[in-house]
Amino acid sequence: MNGRLIIISAPSGAGKSTLVNFLMDRPELDLEFSVSATTREPRGSEKNGSHYHFITVREFRKRIRRGDFIEWEEVYRNQYYGTPREEIERIFRKGKNVLFDVDVKGGINLKNIFGNKSLSVFIRPPSVEELEKRLTGRGTDSPEKIKMRLEKALEEMKLAGLFDYTVVNDILEQAQKEIYTIIKNFIERQDE
Ligand code: ADP
Ligand code: 5GP
Repeated sequence: MNGRLIIISAPSGAGKSTLVNFLMDRPELDLEFSVSATTREPRGSEKNGSHYHFITVREFRKRIRRGDFIEWEEVYRNQYYGTPREEIERIFRKGKNVLFDVDVKGGINLKNIFGNKSLSVFIRPPSVEELEKRLTGRGTDSPEKIKMRLEKALEEMKLAGLFDYTVVNDILEQAQKEIYTIIKNFIERQDE
């Protein structure tokens, strides 16, 4: 039960981190988080090396040139995010399944690269109004940043159809159950 790739994407604020944390707490799924590199500042209790590798724009550009990333995006203006190739190798060496938490374009790119060896799940908020409430309630982003994230969310929701599955995160417990079942089935199916 290892060597699989699980891709999770969602508009910011839809509850992706909440659901990812829930999945990471399920040892039977054998998941390990792929730690991306980013140029944004750490937020709240985020730790360098476990949530992200926090690096400068200059360093990020150097890594792009070296071909270190399997995919990367300028997710917001001047905020770069990228998946290091080395993460996948590191996790496979440990005999685990990789869990990617990436933006919607990144999710589509990874699915195109890995095809049937990967499962892509899009997490949707019940509405844009609720998304705004959650982003405001989280209290980690300025009103300007929230506006930027909401505008991007509208574009991203149009791409949900390119994912293998969509989970609506309305009632949290229900969404947790749904995403768990989708991933468990995928891993078991691949084992047959
Ligand atoms: P993302 O990682 O997609 O940006 P988060 O997981 O940080 O989103 O969730 C955004 C906010 O919404 C957080 O404050 C989180 O506690 C809250 N939240 C997540 N899921 C739900 C839900 N089903 N109902 C209400 N609030 C939620
Ligand atoms: P945040 O700043 O909220 O942590 O992340 C913003 C967005 O960037 C989220 O949608 C997150 O999934 C995405 N992201 C994080 N790491 C990567 C990555 O390596 N590649 C891509 N394409 N997106 C990423």
